[in-house]
Amino acid sequence: MLSPGDMKTMSHESEHQSLVDVANLITPSSWNVFIDRKDRNWKPGVLNIWLWIHEYDGDDDSEDEWIGRVHSPQRYYRISFFAKMDIQAAKALRRFGDGVVASCEIWLREEWLGLETLIHELAHVAVQRYSAWKEGAHRHPDLELAFCVEEEKHGLLFQRFYRTMIKRAERYLCKELAENWGELRIDESSSPPARCEPDALPEDNIRTKGVV
Ligand SMILES: [Zn+2]
Repeated sequence: MLSPGDMKTMSHESEHQSLVDVANLITPSSWNVFIDRKDRNWKPGVLNIWLWIHEYDGDDDSEDEWIGRVHSPQRYYRISFFAKMDIQAAKALRRFGDGVVASCEIWLREEWLGLETLIHELAHVAVQRYSAWKEGAHRHPDLELAFCVEEEKHGLLFQRFYRTMIKRAERYLCKELAENWGELRIDESSSPPARCEPDALPEDNIRTKGVV
C-alpha cells in the first residue's frame, strides 16, 4: 500500500520499483513489467514490458515534449528464435517447449514520473495486446511483424482498458493517491450516469496533457 507521502520520500530506485510492483499488480498475470532487462520472462504466453525511465538530459526541446509513450509496436516471437542467443530463453525452451512470447516498451520521463502516466500507457499496451491477438499474433509470430492499432489513439477501446486499469489500481492503492490523478483521469463528472459505460464515453473526456 502506497501513500502520496511515501512516494515523495522514496529514493529513485525504490520509487521505480514501486511503479513496477503496482504495474504487475494491476495487469494480467501473463504480463511482466520490469526495468532491468535481465528480468525478461521467457515462459510461453508472457508479454514482457520493458519500462525505460529516461533521465532528464537538460534539453527542453518543445518539439520533443512527452511525459510517457509506448515505444514501437508490440512484437511476437517464438522462444526458439532466441534460444541460441539467450541462455534464459534456452532454459525456457527446454522446460516448456516452444511457444510465443511478446514484448513492448513503455518510455517514461524521470522528471515527470508518476503512476498515473504509467497507467495511461499500460492502457495503450492493452489495446495493442487486444489487437495483436485478434490478428492471430500469438499463433503466427514473426520477428518482423509489427502489429499496428487502427483505432484512434484515445478511442473507445483505449478508454475501456484505461478505465479497467484505473479501477484495478484503486483496488490496490490508497484513495488519496488515486484522487491525486486529477488531470489524467477520465472526467466522469461531466458524463450523465447513463453514459458511464466505457463504450459510451466520448473521446474528449480524456485529457492528455503531453501523454501520448
Ligand atoms: Zn495516450
